[in-house]
Amino acid sequence: THFGFETVPEQDKARRVAGVFSSVASKYDVMNDLMSAGMHRLWKAFTIQIAGVREGERVLDVAGGTADLSLAFAKQAGSSGQVWLTDINHAMLSVGRDRTTDKGFLLPVAQCDAEKLPFPDNHFDLVTVAFGLRNMTHKDQALAEMRRVLKPGGRLLVLEFSKIWRPLSKAYDLYSFKVLPWLGQKVAGDADSYRYLAESIRMHPDQESLKQLMGEAGLSRVEFFNLAAGAVALHRGYKL
Ligand code: SAM
Repeated sequence: THFGFETVPEQDKARRVAGVFSSVASKYDVMNDLMSAGMHRLWKAFTIQIAGVREGERVLDVAGGTADLSLAFAKQAGSSGQVWLTDINHAMLSVGRDRTTDKGFLLPVAQCDAEKLPFPDNHFDLVTVAFGLRNMTHKDQALAEMRRVLKPGGRLLVLEFSKIWRPLSKAYDLYSFKVLPWLGQKVAGDADSYRYLAESIRMHPDQESLKQLMGEAGLSRVEFFNLAAGAVALHRGYKL
């Protein structure tokens, strides 16, 4: 049902998320452009700029999906660097891998849960998660894992929906709960997945709460940048 997601038991969340992304994978990129009016490209461009990946760096893209960020990082890290594309969902990862190979990049790819990353401690210069944390059942555990695999001095970037500037919130709710499911139905034949999207955005911690969560997970000097009037925020923290 429409607002039922809040009451779904915790253990069902992972299954629901799997269903959503298996269902949307093939339409994911076009829907992103449509739903955000192309703005997700700007948010990612900003993230890439803040990331400032240098030649030779090791980067982990968690919940990397169709590989927008991974691809940009791969170009910057060069042949002496290494960029891992990872995601828990096979369908999303397949689209991402095909895209990277089509563009002439052969990235290491792993299907894995962010809550249990198959990488050693102190390994990466940069870990990113874009529009993925919201979908994770235990965000604290996922953040702790991302911190664990960072080298001391390494940075974590979290790009995610956040809390929009108050005067815009009514219009935004209307958009996300009415227009998005309608668009999802029209374009992808799938209103439910886009209802989940709206619900998961509403449930996600706001800017200050996520900052605090990151601090509790052991990240230092946490700060955030609001994008699109706070509809989206980029958080950055360091492992010191
Ligand atoms: N990062 C890509 C982007 O910005 O376009 C994809 C974002 S997509 C909205 C969210 C992704 O999170 C999906 O591909 C989904 O499979 C993945 N995901 C959800 N739960 C996850 C988990 N526990 N561990 C890793 N990935 C997860």
